[in-house]
Amino acid sequence: MQEAEIVKKVSEAIRDIPDFPKPGIVFKDITTLLNNAEVFGALMRHLEMRYRDYDLDFVAGIESRGFIFAAALATRLGVGFVPIRKKGKLPYTTVSEKYALEYGVDEVEIHIDAFRDKKDAKVLLIDDLIATGGTAKAASELIEKVGATCVEACFVIELDFLGGSKTLRVPHYAVMHVS
Ligand code: AMP
Repeated sequence: MQEAEIVKKVSEAIRDIPDFPKPGIVFKDITTLLNNAEVFGALMRHLEMRYRDYDLDFVAGIESRGFIFAAALATRLGVGFVPIRKKGKLPYTTVSEKYALEYGVDEVEIHIDAFRDKKDAKVLLIDDLIATGGTAKAASELIEKVGATCVEACFVIELDFLGGSKTLRVPHYAVMHVS
């Protein structure tokens, strides 16, 4: 399947839920993509083709929807999966990074030994969606904080009108764009 056809199928498979979780937000519901074997399979094959020559050591996913795509891609590429979680969820020693929300702050964490003993591990970061970019920026900085390199940040959906990818200090790729 050509990239344009995949983008079209992925866009059609994602459901918009207006005013969720609060008024004014259009929530991008990926459950209707995940339960569609043809589209989910085509998306994962597309990501596998894109990243198979990146010589990655790990794929890291952001809690929680990022885990789904990151873990599926990691097994396809034959590399390990690393979870980046909200504060207080990881059981071993962690490194953390705070980021600003519209109101207040949030924090993400990674295990200090997430990339085992691999020196300068090459890591792909994945989340389902980039909005303001705060979560992905903090996650990519965590990867660097534990001595690895975030070679790219990958998203299924980018909300272009929020300009979140401009805040990232690493290359980024999004399958579909909402303008
Ligand atoms: P941000 O840090 O603003 O880029 O927000 C990204 C995170 O919030 C991702 O983990 C998304 O899953 C979630 N998110 C933000 N906006 C939406 C939206 N409109 N629909 C679905 N998820 C969203």
